[in-house]
Amino acid sequence: MKFGLVANTKRVGAEEAIQFFIDWAKTSGNKLFLSDQLVGLSSNGLNYCTPEELVSNVDILVSMGGDGTLLASARIVGDSGTPILGINLGSLGFMTQLTPQQLLPALDSIVKKEYKIEKRMLLKTEAKGIEKVESPYALNDIVVDNGPVSRLIDINLSVNGEQIVTYKADGLIISTPTGSTAYSLAVGGPIMHPKMEAMIASPVSSFSLNTRPMIFAAEDVLEIAVVNEDHQAHLTMDGQVMLPLQGSSKVRISKAEFQAKFITFPNNSFYRVLRNKLHWGYSPYEG
Ligand code: NAP
Ligand code: MN
Repeated sequence: MKFGLVANTKRVGAEEAIQFFIDWAKTSGNKLFLSDQLVGLSSNGLNYCTPEELVSNVDILVSMGGDGTLLASARIVGDSGTPILGINLGSLGFMTQLTPQQLLPALDSIVKKEYKIEKRMLLKTEAKGIEKVESPYALNDIVVDNGPVSRLIDINLSVNGEQIVTYKADGLIISTPTGSTAYSLAVGGPIMHPKMEAMIASPVSSFSLNTRPMIFAAEDVLEIAVVNEDHQAHLTMDGQVMLPLQGSSKVRISKAEFQAKFITFPNNSFYRVLRNKLHWGYSPYEG
């Protein structure tokens, strides 16, 4: 099989995990292509690739790092359909559940085709009045906010052409079910199982007692407009790509026409991760 690797080398244990993967590929007769961001590793005879080459060369992309690295990997994979295996290196790793110690059994299972593919909805951004984005897709969320200056902005939200609310807030998060455990959760949004398809609109510090996070159908088309012309606003996708918005910019958000694919194994449980990593449901009486 042909594997690709994207890794955050700043993480403790990254070097060992990468070297282990390189050695495993050599001894097991599998091919390994490394992201060109990893150029300079000490082993000889390595294949380095640009993100585009990586995706066209490999059957599976391994992402070593935290959730941020996984979000970057999903951006690299785009609409190619390449499944991603996430290995967590010392961060929260809500989406990257396997530890480096579990890499070997995971790779062996993959070669034996003993794994499941979990499909996850992505969001697509189209924006009038802002520069064109190379990859306008988000696995977690699309955030429109006030940027570096902490001022209230007026954010109109329309659904399928019908204006429904103007938030006076610091920002508005449009999240997927995958992103429901990230920024949206931090502002009081609901937790959704990542196999669901829907869009959550969660305002950030809404100056009102009358707003709550809302869930929209995945087929809906949301439109966000920052209506106060004089205020600067920003659009951020997955905390990775940031664009300035002009006062007159309109951002249209809908379900992407493709999904991200994650490799999982039969004993994987979203609820267990929620409990173990975010301490969901822990009682103050528990130790
Ligand atoms: P980051 O600053 O490292 O992310 C914040 C935390 O969220 C990290 O601990 C990260 O895990 C975790 N995380 C990311 N996606 C998650 C998910 N789907 N479910 C549960 N936890 C998740 O930046 P990042 O790693 O590049 O992640 C970008 C995301 O950060 C954005 O999409 C946004 O949702 C989130 N964010 C949160 C806040 C907030 O909570 N106030 C503010 C801005 C952005 P790792 O430690 O494994 O990276
Ligand atoms: Mn991170």
